[in-house]
Amino acid sequence: MKKISLYILIIISLIFLFPVILTSRFSSVETIGKTENKIEASKEQPYDYKKYGTINLINSQTNETTQIALDEYLYGVVSAEMPASYEIEALKAQAVVARTYTIYTITHNFAKHGEGTICTASTCCQAWLSKEERMSKWSESESEANWQKIVQAVDSTKGKVIQYNGEVIDAFFHSNSGGKTEVPVNVWGGTGYPYLQVVETAGEDAYSQYSSEVNFSKQDFENKMKEKYSDFTIDWNNAECIKITEYTDGGRARTVKIGNKELSGVEVRSTFGLKSANFKFTIDGDNIKFSVIGYGHGVGMSQTGADAMAKTGSTYVDIINHFYTGIEIVNI
Ligand SMILES: [Zn+2]
Repeated sequence: MKKISLYILIIISLIFLFPVILTSRFSSVETIGKTENKIEASKEQPYDYKKYGTINLINSQTNETTQIALDEYLYGVVSAEMPASYEIEALKAQAVVARTYTIYTITHNFAKHGEGTICTASTCCQAWLSKEERMSKWSESESEANWQKIVQAVDSTKGKVIQYNGEVIDAFFHSNSGGKTEVPVNVWGGTGYPYLQVVETAGEDAYSQYSSEVNFSKQDFENKMKEKYSDFTIDWNNAECIKITEYTDGGRARTVKIGNKELSGVEVRSTFGLKSANFKFTIDGDNIKFSVIGYGHGVGMSQTGADAMAKTGSTYVDIINHFYTGIEIVNI
């Protein structure tokens, strides 16, 4: 009798525990990738950074998985994610950010590819190129010097990662903040990222990624909206048929009224393929023009901002401390 009660107790415990086990393992699910996904903070512990001297790398084009040393992987990431012409201190900042992002992904975001594993798709994990691929895209006269500069950026910051409160951070980065970064809650709705605040950076307007323009005819504009929202209607005679109704602290559109729809700035960005959610629009006859500032989601380190800071004498430590608030750079 006692034995049967014990079995029943074990079964009941398992029924209750099973969902807990599942949700804790997948608590930091990132469904689409670092650029456009919903994020949730995870406190999963413990993890051992040192065991990731090598990682499993999935080549997204061939679907093959290979084992590769972490720093060798980082050569391919830094060279794919940032121009080699950028200042060495900016490249070093990118190396530390990429190492941190990698460690976070392979120890937290198991739902992507499993523990210790990362892929080469920039829309999912991080861009990566093999040395051969990378070298072939540079001119022959500069390829060796460029590669050595990337290697120097990774090797001179060996083992360094960014932590907040003793935990490795989710080190988001993007191309150009337009002068002001964004908090995650305004992009993905995720909270619990005290180290990702709005910060201002001078000099980003000197880069080609800073401003862009996209034009649509009224018909094309309506078609784009109807692809996503089949019940969309708009009265072009109404002076306020398109209106940005609220802005974020980072200066991006938070809510936009378009005809009978109310969208977030991020939704407008994705619907019309804009480089960022920092946009203005003008309607001139049959033409709707979006004027866009910055490139990317705007969260974390701006790569052009990092280069602009390095040009005025900032070190990689200064750059990282500028873009990530209240953090420490530690050796793993
Ligand atoms: Zn991936």
